[in-house]
Amino acid sequence: MSTQHEVPSYLTQKEIGPWGVYLEQIDRVTPYLGSLARWVETLKRPKRILVVDVPIERDDGSIAHFEGYRVQHNTSRGPGKGGVRFHQDVTLSEVMALSAWMTVKNAAVNVPYGGAKGGVRLDPKTLSTGELQRVTRRYTSEINIIIGPNKDIPAPDVNTNEQIMAWMMDTYSMNQGSTASGVVTGKPISLGGSLGRREATGRGVYVVGCEAAAKRGIDIKGARVAVQGFGNVGGIAARLFAEAGAKVVAVQDHISTVVADSGLDVVALQAHVAQHGSVAGFGGGDIVNDRSRFWEVDCDILIPAALEQQITEANANKIRAKIILEGANGPTTPAADDILHDKGVLVVPDVIANAGGVTVSYFEWVQDFSSFFWTEDEINQRLTRIMREAFGAVWTLAQEKNVSLRTAAFIVACTRVLQAREMRGLYP
Ligand code: NAD
Repeated sequence: MSTQHEVPSYLTQKEIGPWGVYLEQIDRVTPYLGSLARWVETLKRPKRILVVDVPIERDDGSIAHFEGYRVQHNTSRGPGKGGVRFHQDVTLSEVMALSAWMTVKNAAVNVPYGGAKGGVRLDPKTLSTGELQRVTRRYTSEINIIIGPNKDIPAPDVNTNEQIMAWMMDTYSMNQGSTASGVVTGKPISLGGSLGRREATGRGVYVVGCEAAAKRGIDIKGARVAVQGFGNVGGIAARLFAEAGAKVVAVQDHISTVVADSGLDVVALQAHVAQHGSVAGFGGGDIVNDRSRFWEVDCDILIPAALEQQITEANANKIRAKIILEGANGPTTPAADDILHDKGVLVVPDVIANAGGVTVSYFEWVQDFSSFFWTEDEINQRLTRIMREAFGAVWTLAQEKNVSLRTAAFIVACTRVLQAREMRGLYP
């Protein structure tokens, strides 16, 4: 099922991409919103879009220009919140969709934020550390007018990390003349970062995965797990599953695919990736040259943890997993959702499965405001409680309404966002 959507004047039909996927997800939830449906257009239009030019002087003296974005999709429930992605394929459509999924995610786990996202269209592997710092600082200065601890709080995403968050925090602080720790999350611990933040998204994927496995009668001990994307999210989720006794039988990254029927040594694989930048060349498994075969791997739990639109009509039928745990944002298209549903595959949607990161970002922001820091145990316990409660509420609603977990999560979240919109009323 694919509907033609109204394309904003700043995107062409060809460019609608992930934003079109999000619009289709909203269409699917609209019949369940009751009288709030009269506000649904709010969700189909980002509140604010900022496109910026990011010029830097390269090490060789030449000038390079990069295109940067910050999209604030919705701020009905609180300040904008969402990561910044550095990637050569970043588009406005992608950042719009990611910002909207942040609105839904923050409402689904009930943290007091709206949704936002940022990106710069560049391949960080082609920049020196100095160039990367200059891009980060110039981008932060350009979006400075719309971010802030009470306005919009960026965080790490694909190819951005604690160092980049430290540069963003410093740049914002220099511009305003005082240190503002709460302007970004995912910072180093020494600058007001939170214990447990680095692992939070992967840990949340693991916690929700255990809940979903229990519903399907799958024992984590001995369960077969396949992971696409072996970065912050996929790498940590894989390690936690392996520590719990699961067998990680396949890992794919942007360069290579490695499989081992008896299970990969995840710690050794992480060490290999830290040294070589990819799973390519790892000696502890078999390298598979045909990338598409990853989707056919015999496994119980499949974790897409790389980029959007990876599970499509083209490969959904080949998937043998019983559960798909969406570590990435938007990895499954609506058409693939339908195929998986018909096959009886349980899809745990991104807006629940990967919400652990923003949940601990929320903890970090709260700790920065109070300048009072919690122990890692406290953080992990609170994270686990929030993730289990969010999963449980969505599971119950899905059973009641006989809908997918994605539609149920969207019902919970969109109801919260639109209730806030209705209570606040339209200004002026
Ligand atoms: P990362 O940069 O740490 O890792 C990305 C991984 O994906 C790398 O292993 C890379 O090799 C792999 N990859 C890239 N392109 C690929 C391709 N075409 N095929 C296969 N693998 C590919 O990024 P991350 O922070 O782990 O984010 C991964 C996903 O999780 C993204 O969708 C992101 O939006 C989402 N996410 C991240 C967080 C977070 O806290 N970092 C939170 C929520 C959601």
